[in-house]
Amino acid sequence: MVIQAMRLAFFGALIAGIGLAAGAPATPVSADSFPIATDARLGGDETQTRFVLDLSRRIDLHLFTLADPYRVVIDVPQVTFRLPPKAGENGRGLIKAFRFGLVMPGGSRMVIDLVKPARIDKAFVVDAADGAPARLVLDLVATDRESFLRKIALDQRFARAQAPPSREQQSSGDARPLIVLDPGHGGIDTGTKGPNGQMEKDIVLDFSKRLQEKIETAGKYRVLLTRTDDTFVPLAERVRFAREAGAALFMSIHADSLPRREGDAQGATVYTLSETATDPAAARLAEQENRADVIAGVDLKEQPDDVAGILIDLAQRETKTFSIEFANKLVGTMKETTRLHKEPIKSAGFRVLRAPDVPSVLVELGYVSNKEDLQSLSSDSWRDHAANSMASAIDGYFSAHLARARAGAN
Ligand SMILES: [Zn+2]
Repeated sequence: MVIQAMRLAFFGALIAGIGLAAGAPATPVSADSFPIATDARLGGDETQTRFVLDLSRRIDLHLFTLADPYRVVIDVPQVTFRLPPKAGENGRGLIKAFRFGLVMPGGSRMVIDLVKPARIDKAFVVDAADGAPARLVLDLVATDRESFLRKIALDQRFARAQAPPSREQQSSGDARPLIVLDPGHGGIDTGTKGPNGQMEKDIVLDFSKRLQEKIETAGKYRVLLTRTDDTFVPLAERVRFAREAGAALFMSIHADSLPRREGDAQGATVYTLSETATDPAAARLAEQENRADVIAGVDLKEQPDDVAGILIDLAQRETKTFSIEFANKLVGTMKETTRLHKEPIKSAGFRVLRAPDVPSVLVELGYVSNKEDLQSLSSDSWRDHAANSMASAIDGYFSAHLARARAGAN
């Protein structure tokens, strides 16, 4: 490991262009022209740990996690490390130790070894103020291995955005169809809110977990969720997750609301993707749901959309047919247990439905702005019934679809 070999002494004077990997000639730039890290501190315990790095000025950062052993990696522009001797050797709380150094000309990295799986709760840089230096702050919260690995899977997909999905690889060992459930929103993006502060992100996560149980009960299908806790996942990542996992079906789960001045609406609606929205309300809803990334502060420029540019009508014709077929099945079984919107099937340009090769629907379970709907959404028995009817739609869809696929092209 390049970084492990690098010690503090390395960064005393001139470090620009050291060219660690290739032995490239150094560019004569003074180390002082780079931001300088002067101190690092750890606080907290094994449930919550804070890492603070004092800096001469603000820097940008990019973080990701690695497993086996558990690590957090912080990539930053080139930094001159002038930390106290032995900095990073002793840990605290969730942090076992940390190391730091240049990984390429212009880029430094800190690698934090974890005692156990941890989630990055917050990571930010504050400007110098009131005599205090600029600081990089990283807050870690203990998590379980499954959530930790899920986050890595998402990060890796992000990193190799352009790589084609390797379905065979992913699905080997288990031939059962994979259904990816996508609880909308999460983390900083709360989604819509009910009158007493009920948040869409919580309602849909609870519901998705219930639905997962129902689908898995029969043992015929595998289910993965795009998020299993209150974390934010960018829209493109949700799509990519489904594609690369080899999903046979993608269901994004949401709850809607109507501003008071627009009257009342109630019931569930199933949406499929189309370039032209069914009606202005559907178009507005798609626009609203598509804002998730913006709300969460995701830099859209850094969100490679490997689906962008594909002409929906060409690449998605078959997928679209299947999506509509499933939407119909869904409405057919849901109407037995659930109040449906007066026009229960619609389409609009939802970003999260853009996988060209995975039949996808977005379900708005109901309106949190409607009293009865909200009551249903918060009711255990409603969730149970609704999830049951959705699971039976899934089974109906696959029974028909797989039989056809075996007889036909596949
Ligand atoms: Zn939503």
